[in-house]
Amino acid sequence: MDGTEEQKAYYLPKLATGELSSSFALTEPDAGSDAASLRTTAIRDGDHYVVNGTKRYITNAPHSKIFTLMARTNPADKGAGGVSAFIVDAKTPGISLGKNDQKMGQKGAHTCDVIFENVRVPAANLIGGQEGQGFKTAMKVLEKGRIHLAAVCVGVAQRILDDALRYAIDRKQFGQPIAEFQLVQAMLADSKAELYAAECMVIDAARKRDEGRSVSTEASCCKMFASEMCGRVADRAVQILGGAGYLAEYGIERFYRDVRLFRLYEGTTQIQQIIIGRNMVREARA
Ligand SMILES: Cc1cc2nc3c(=O)[nH]c(=O)nc-3n(C[C@H](O)[C@H](O)[C@H](O)COP(=O)(O)OP(=O)(O)OC[C@H]3O[C@@H](n4cnc5c(N)ncnc54)[C@H](O)[C@@H]3O)c2cc1C
Repeated sequence: MDGTEEQKAYYLPKLATGELSSSFALTEPDAGSDAASLRTTAIRDGDHYVVNGTKRYITNAPHSKIFTLMARTNPADKGAGGVSAFIVDAKTPGISLGKNDQKMGQKGAHTCDVIFENVRVPAANLIGGQEGQGFKTAMKVLEKGRIHLAAVCVGVAQRILDDALRYAIDRKQFGQPIAEFQLVQAMLADSKAELYAAECMVIDAARKRDEGRSVSTEASCCKMFASEMCGRVADRAVQILGGAGYLAEYGIERFYRDVRLFRLYEGTTQIQQIIIGRNMVREARA
């Protein structure tokens, strides 16, 4: 998004072919929702920056060959303006990884701390070649990521609902398939309607973004609604399966744990509410 032409020419083909895999390293032990308060520093020293700090919960870190690192190049500026973004080779001396996090779900995605101790990063790896732009770059990544994540929620919810519907048709109680009971149909219908709404939101937001329009509000609406929807669909699926919904061998129990994360990362539901509300007030005043 914001790399120089040289950075794009070197890294994008390698990322596209899978020769390189990468992680997005923004969160820190004391900087989560308030990401702009991050404390990792990158201090210029000749034609390098010296990086010190710890990043937390970094997805794919155990496997990544490069990190997109957000670090403070201007310690005098404690806010977003002091932050720059770098491409950091994971093999650079001074980088170490914490132990793999033990998570509630999404066990196929590995996360851990990434610790930087006097890591020398070439100045040529400053994304866009300009200091102070890193937080803006991170927000651009997250804005696109929120539409993407909402699409993931739609896909997962569809799979969960398909499984729940099939189970409801097969499972018989009181001499008939539980799918015939209107109270079960209500859970299926609510899930279907919410899923359809999220799908429409994703398509609309993606189309507007492709047209070059600003989609900060739409991306947050999509992420908030789709991730909350996915949680409700997973919860109803457990209910439709009854005791089987609670047992690992039927598969829904894993989804129930996996989808919980969607409401937390890439900005919690509360952070999406704040973005949407703030944008509404700003636009009304403009
Ligand atoms: C499995 C996993 C993978 C992740 N992958 C990555 C990754 O690859 N890269 C990366 O950089 N980060 C990653 N994260 C970090 C993730 O983005 C953060 O966990 C998330 O942004 C929330 O930050 P926090 O955990 O510090 O919670 P906190 O910010 O401490 O929030 C705790 C609670 O307070 C609420 N809260 C905070 N501020 C406000 C406010 N102003 N108003 C109202 N409520 C508020 C939150 O909504 C939440 O409910 C990952 C996290 C997990 C768990």
